[in-house]
Amino acid sequence: MQNIAAVVTQPDLEKIFEHLHTAVAVIEKDGSFFAWNPAFEPFKKIMGNSFSKKLTEMHWQEIFTFDEDDVKLCECFLIPASNARFILLAEPVTSDSASAVQIQKLHKQVKLFQVESEFSKKLAHNKHVELESVITQAKEVSQTDALTFIFNRRAIINELQNEVLRAERYNTMLSISIIDVDHFKSINDSFGHPIGDSILQQVAHRLRDGIRHPDVVGRYGGEEFLIILPSSNVQAASEQATRLGKMMRESPIIVKEHVIQVTLSIGTAQLKIGKDTWETLLNRADNAMYEAKKKGRDCFVVAE
Ligand code: GH3
Ligand code: MG
Ligand code: MG
Repeated sequence: MQNIAAVVTQPDLEKIFEHLHTAVAVIEKDGSFFAWNPAFEPFKKIMGNSFSKKLTEMHWQEIFTFDEDDVKLCECFLIPASNARFILLAEPVTSDSASAVQIQKLHKQVKLFQVESEFSKKLAHNKHVELESVITQAKEVSQTDALTFIFNRRAIINELQNEVLRAERYNTMLSISIIDVDHFKSINDSFGHPIGDSILQQVAHRLRDGIRHPDVVGRYGGEEFLIILPSSNVQAASEQATRLGKMMRESPIIVKEHVIQVTLSIGTAQLKIGKDTWETLLNRADNAMYEAKKKGRDCFVVAE
């Protein structure tokens, strides 16, 4: 029997490769494709311009995904050829075999799972964002005074505790002011509790708008407010107290048809580092505020 390679001519070979269902490519030693037959075209689309595997493995099986519905398990051979080249043969394992059907099916399931898992990831992310915003809202509500919408007692005391710690750690100044509305009981008695509430709201907003960053104000009690002045000495707190007292004195609060004169008594104190705790600082400011009441109200007193 004659050797087939010995009897076929070059034009015969070209026709054979043209019609062959097996994908055939000639690979240079650097991996680039030198020549290939039409059956190899879909493989080349996937592989690009060069063969990425090492030119060492001679026989293996590989799954090629040509498109979503075209996945083939192939038997691959790498045959050393002349000029240090290699011939790559890729032979699809019969496409109608049970395993090919199984491969297609599994491939579709994997794709479906990927889509579903993307969807689940998105869903989980959205839920996470929702949860964070609910937590933020809950935190805000727990820190906010329901009448005035400034910090409530718990939140402003929490701020004070943090600021005292910060001042001690970095050896910086810290002052506070306790502000009490004068004769508020008689305001309530004269105009009624709802109007008293409106006045408290307006006082709170005036204080909030009358302080500067990084100062903070909170409602410390019924008609009492606490201002924290980080990095400030008592002179700065006194200037602020003067300004706030003047602003209140000179601009009466208007609620409905009532023009109501409101004044403030203010006690200020500066943190004595090494001596004060947040509680003693608060007490000193409170005592100073009562001194202001004793002095006749509508004024401020600085704690010793
Ligand atoms: P002083 O100048 O000595 O501070 O007199 P005062 O009348 O302001 O002091 P007092 O502590 O006797 O009265 C405070 C009043 O503030 C009594 C209380 O009913 C009123 N008050 C406390 N919280 C609220 C509130 O949320 N709304 C209203 N409308 N009144 C409040
Ligand atoms: Mg009071
Ligand atoms: Mg009062």
